Amino acid sequence: MAGLSGKSAAVIGLGALGSVTAELLAKSVGTIVLIDHDIVEQSNLERQPFYDKGNVNKLKCEVVYEKLMKRYSKIIIVSRAVHIDQQTIKEVNADIILDCTDNFETRFVINDYCKKNNIPWVHAAATGSIGVVVPFTGNYCFGCIYGNKKKGLTCDDSGIMIEVARKTAQIQVDEALKILNGKPCTQGMIRFVGGVIDTLAIKDGCNCMGRKENNVQFTLSKCTTRAGYSAKPSKNMKLNLGKIKEKFTTLIETPIVLVIKENDIEIVVHEYGELLFKSGTDEELMNKIAKKVYSFKL
Ligand SMILES: [Zn+2]
Repeated sequence: MAGLSGKSAAVIGLGALGSVTAELLAKSVGTIVLIDHDIVEQSNLERQPFYDKGNVNKLKCEVVYEKLMKRYSKIIIVSRAVHIDQQTIKEVNADIILDCTDNFETRFVINDYCKKNNIPWVHAAATGSIGVVVPFTGNYCFGCIYGNKKKGLTCDDSGIMIEVARKTAQIQVDEALKILNGKPCTQGMIRFVGGVIDTLAIKDGCNCMGRKENNVQFTLSKCTTRAGYSAKPSKNMKLNLGKIKEKFTTLIETPIVLVIKENDIEIVVHEYGELLFKSGTDEELMNKIAKKVYSFKL
C-alpha cells in the first residue's frame, strides 16, 4: 500500500498486541508513533514474542523502535515513553490512533480526545482466546458501548494467546488501513472467538453520557425567588429536547420547553439549557439528573 506513505498512525500500548500491531503497520504507513511508558519485564517474555531476554529492563517503545528501524528503514518512527492521560494525549499527532492499551481509563482518554478532535481510532483488546476490535469513525463512541464502566477485555487479566494477539492485531490494522485509505471500515464490534470472527452491530448515533471534558459544565443553585433548584450551563448550549422526551417521563411538551419527571421530581427543561427542579432537596440526586439531561445536547 504505497498510497499510505504520507499517513501517520500512533500505537498506544506496546504489549502482546501493540508490538504486533506496530510491526504490521510498519509495512504500510509512512510514519508510526510508538507510545508506551513501560519497560520489558522478564515475565512479559513468554506472552510477548516480540521481546527477548536482551530487552529486559528496556523501554518497550525503544525496543520496538530499534527493531522496526532495522526492518523498515524507509519509514519514520517516533518513540515516546509517556503515560497517556488527558494532557499527554494532546501531544499525540497522527492521522489515526490504534489502542492497544490494557486499561479502560486510557481508552476513555483516547475516546474523549478523538471524539473532540474528529480523529479516527481503532480499539483492540485480547484476552485468553478472545479478541475484540472496534473501529471508531464518529458514528458512535467507546462510551456508547461501555458506558462509564471500567470493565471489559484487558490484556493483562488473563494470559493472552499469541495467535489471538496476532489475529486481533491483523484485524485492527486492516480496519485502520481501510480508514486511512478512505474506504468504509467495519461498522460494529468485531469479535474473534475460538477462531471464528463475527461482528456485533452497534447502534448508530452517539448518545452516551460522555465523560470529563465532553460533559456540560453547570452550576446547581437554590432558587432565591421560588422553591426548588435551578441548573445553569456555564456556556451557551442547546438541548436535544426530542431525545430527552424519549428518555424521560414527559409531562408537558412544547417546542422549546419540556416538563419531565425523574425520581419524583418535576423538572422544567429549557431548550437553551436551564433546568428548574420544582421540588427536591437532594443536591447530589439533582446533579445526577442534570448530568443525564445535559448528555442530550445538540
Ligand atoms: Zn458515545
